[in-house]
Amino acid sequence: LISLTDLSVKFGGSTVLSRINLVINKGEIVTIVGPNGSGKSTLLRNVIGALQPTTGFVERAPGLRIGYVPQKLHIDPTLPLTVRRFLSLPKRVSNTRALHALEKAGVSALEQRQMSALSGGQFQRVLLARALLNDPQLLILDEATQGLDQPGSARFYQHIEAVRQDLGCAVLMVSHELHVVMAASDRVICLNGHICCEGAPEHVATAPEYRALFGTGTQGA
Ligand code: ATP
Ligand code: MG
Repeated sequence: LISLTDLSVKFGGSTVLSRINLVINKGEIVTIVGPNGSGKSTLLRNVIGALQPTTGFVERAPGLRIGYVPQKLHIDPTLPLTVRRFLSLPKRVSNTRALHALEKAGVSALEQRQMSALSGGQFQRVLLARALLNDPQLLILDEATQGLDQPGSARFYQHIEAVRQDLGCAVLMVSHELHVVMAASDRVICLNGHICCEGAPEHVATAPEYRALFGTGTQGA
């Protein structure tokens, strides 16, 4: 679906990503783990095309539909905004499409709720619904379970696996909780400005390069 070749990103004088080679295939779930500031979000922004690499290139399959859940999204809590209206920002979507996406995200009951009144977990599900509006072939999640407790995160990732099976989409996600996403990942990439190690989740969890960054336990950052 997408391939990154020798991709490097510099901000000012500092290199944030160097020589990244990465291919995402149809239907697979790939997780990127790495410490704070290791370039995870920057990598995702290159994948979605919001950022151009300093050197190297990104190739996308023609007409590739991407759904994206950003790491941070600030919504003014004083603005009245229902979930349904949020899904129509910035572009209007039909009721059928909106309801369908909410169903896929497992939150159809929240349609008429105020965005400001959602719990953290509900808010993340609504962001997921928004990312599913265009029936993506590639779903990209940047720390989508930030602020959720461990059972909440585990449920979220189980749901992502169900979505993958249902839509047949590939998933590229970022998390620093390898122990939580392990079960849902086909492949894990450990990033620290460059790719330190990659492979099956069990392989990465025990790799010396991963342990050097995250300690010897299986707990994430
Ligand atoms: P976190 O786990 O905290 O989300 P991350 O791995 O997602 O971290 P990035 O957000 O990709 O890290 O940032 C990587 C580095 O690039 C950081 O040092 C950050 O300050 C820097 N950086 C990111 N975006 C910019 C920008 N637009 N201009 C300058 N520096 C930037
Ligand atoms: Mg980030």
